[in-house]
Amino acid sequence: MTPLQNLSQTFDVLVIGAGAAGLYTALCLPDNLTIGLITKDTVSLSASDWAQGGIAAAMSKEDSPLLHVEDTIAAGAGLCDFAAVNFLAQKAPSCIQSLVSMGVAFDRQGEQLALTLEAAHSRRRVLHAADTTGKEVITTLTAQVLQRKNISILQKTLALSLWLAQTGRCQGISLIYDHRVIWVRAKAVVLATGGGGQVFAHTTNPAVSTGDGGAMHSGTCGFSYGVQPLY
Ligand SMILES: Cc1cc2nc3c(=O)[nH]c(=O)nc-3n(C[C@H](O)[C@H](O)[C@H](O)COP(=O)(O)OP(=O)(O)OC[C@H]3O[C@@H](n4cnc5c(N)ncnc54)[C@H](O)[C@@H]3O)c2cc1C
Repeated sequence: MTPLQNLSQTFDVLVIGAGAAGLYTALCLPDNLTIGLITKDTVSLSASDWAQGGIAAAMSKEDSPLLHVEDTIAAGAGLCDFAAVNFLAQKAPSCIQSLVSMGVAFDRQGEQLALTLEAAHSRRRVLHAADTTGKEVITTLTAQVLQRKNISILQKTLALSLWLAQTGRCQGISLIYDHRVIWVRAKAVVLATGGGGQVFAHTTNPAVSTGDGGAMHSGTCGFSYGVQPLY
């Protein structure tokens, strides 16, 4: 893992969050881009690492992304964002193939990927790796990220707020690293900070799941008022 050695470093892309979403995003970006992958704890601590049962994707011949969308909307009881559900269900099969090609060892039934039928799904579509699916995904993606020279992993680094230009365009972020507030420039910033289970009194989510990305996006994560950029 790389420490934040050069405080004035500019990245092409800053990915905030090193769960499955952040790691996968970093790996999908072209390797001629400099990427900073930020996590406020260690890479091994995320909800993704704790996920157990598996990942749903319409992989079988008897299934389709449309059926996956219908099941999800029905189970969502009015809470689903249709565009997001549709996008995820359509993209899921190719993303699974991509994870397999990156080395994620989902359980198999013969040569085929094993698919489980779970609640609310009308078809067998849950891929798994024993009951530690998340750990398998995170371990594999982390190993891939560590091989990529263009990706710097910044652990124990807390993203505070988006750094907006007067035009409103995001030009980087402010963060806390080693007890200092630092402003880091980037041409693009990806928020992959996970959910906010910790806003509830009782949750199975890890301590890092405090909904920071949502707060940053809506501009309420503002501990950085009055602090000037270092460069
Ligand atoms: C116990 C458990 C079991 C689950 N089982 C399943 C399952 O079987 N199937 C399923 O589909 N889903 C399951 N889930 C849900 C699933 O794990 C999550 O939806 C998914 O992992 C979210 O991935 P993510 O990458 O978006 O976020 P996360 O994996 O939560 O990663 C968020 C990352 O953002 C970082 N971060 C957050 N805020 C900041 C900040 N301000 N600065 C820097 N870094 C920050 C965190 O440190 C972390 O690295 C389960 C969840 C739990 C807790």
